[in-house]
Amino acid sequence: MIAKILAVVSLVVLPLSVAMWHKSHQRPVQYRYDLTLYKSMWVYMRDGVCGLEVLSMPTKTASRSEFRNPLRYDPTPMRSSLAIDISSKGPYRRTWIVFPFWLLTGLLTACGAFPVIRGPVRQLWRRWRGRCIACGYDLTGNRSGRCPECGLRLR
Ligand SMILES: [Zn+2]
Repeated sequence: MIAKILAVVSLVVLPLSVAMWHKSHQRPVQYRYDLTLYKSMWVYMRDGVCGLEVLSMPTKTASRSEFRNPLRYDPTPMRSSLAIDISSKGPYRRTWIVFPFWLLTGLLTACGAFPVIRGPVRQLWRRWRGRCIACGYDLTGNRSGRCPECGLRLR
C-alpha cells in the first residue's frame, strides 16, 4: 500500500523533476525562502545539479522575503554534484544537500515503476528457483503437475 502511494506521488512529481532538470541547463537560478526568522533556505539549480542550502542564523536576520536570481557561479561545496555537508562559521551554520537531477529522476522512475514490475520479477525469481510462481511453494521433485499448496497447474 505504501509502495503504491509512493509510486503515485513519484509519477506526479516525475515530470516536475524532468522539467527542473531541463530548466537548470537552460537558465541556472537561485531561490531563497525564509523557513523561519532564524533559518533561510537557498535553492540552487545549475547544469543538472540541485543544491539545497539551509542557513541557520543566531539572530532574527531573515527578512521574510522570497526571491529568485539568475545564478552566475556554482556555490555548491567543492563544486560537487552529490554531497551532504554541514559547516559552521561562527554562530552561522550551513547545511548543504547537493544532488544531480538524473538521480532524483531515476529514483522517482524506480519508485513509480516498482509496483508494476514487482509481480513479473517475483514470478521470474520463483521460476528460476524451481518454486510455484503463484504461491512460492518449493516444487522440487514434484511429479503431479499441480502445486500441492495452491493447486496451480504447472507447465
Ligand atoms: Zn502454488
